[in-house]
Amino acid sequence: MAERNTDRIRYRYGICLNDNCEKCKSKEVQEIPARKEFVCPECGKPLRECPPPKKGGNTKLIGIIVGVVILLAIIGCIIAFSGGSEEKPVPAPVPEVKENTDSIKAAQEAAEQQRIKDSLDAVAAAEAAKKQEAEKKTEPAPATQKPAKSASGSKNLGYATFKGSWPNDVNGRMVFTSSHVIDSKDPKKRVAEAGDYVIGEWADGHLVQGIWYGSDNQVKGSVIIGR
Ligand SMILES: [Zn+2]
Repeated sequence: MAERNTDRIRYRYGICLNDNCEKCKSKEVQEIPARKEFVCPECGKPLRECPPPKKGGNTKLIGIIVGVVILLAIIGCIIAFSGGSEEKPVPAPVPEVKENTDSIKAAQEAAEQQRIKDSLDAVAAAEAAKKQEAEKKTEPAPATQKPAKSASGSKNLGYATFKGSWPNDVNGRMVFTSSHVIDSKDPKKRVAEAGDYVIGEWADGHLVQGIWYGSDNQVKGSVIIGR
């Protein structure tokens, strides 16, 4: 243990145990060079070896001071560096960072709760909307269904089925189910075959103008009768 330090190899420390010696009375720790005999320089009696208290304390203290200085220097360097470039995190205000993360956590939790609340609200709103829609559907439906039949449904004419708002539609479709005159007002009295269809404008149940297609979707001609 004593050989670990070079100082302790060069010097040995001891207390004189001679009651008649001044050095003994003062309990002075004496520093004896290692090469010299380990005896009291005052009385010449052997010394009791002891750890170097003062010097050891000093070196200890110096060590602590040096350590603190180095630590401060390191912290100073870190602060200086982090001050120079803001990308580096500041290590000194650790509790502040913790507070920040805490507040972030709290904010995240609040946001999560808000999100849950919002989604619940959205679900409630959606359900309410569904209910309203269902009410709308169930209540005015029977009232609107009757005009819907003549408005934009289909009308069976026996020889053909009209798809659109019979009897007036600017874009209706007449699908012939059997051979029949396209329109009684047609001066040419053109006859459509089963499967033929006419897309065009109807007024008062009569074709004004339209395109006549065959069942193969090929145009058979344009029919212009007028009002
Ligand atoms: Zn002595």
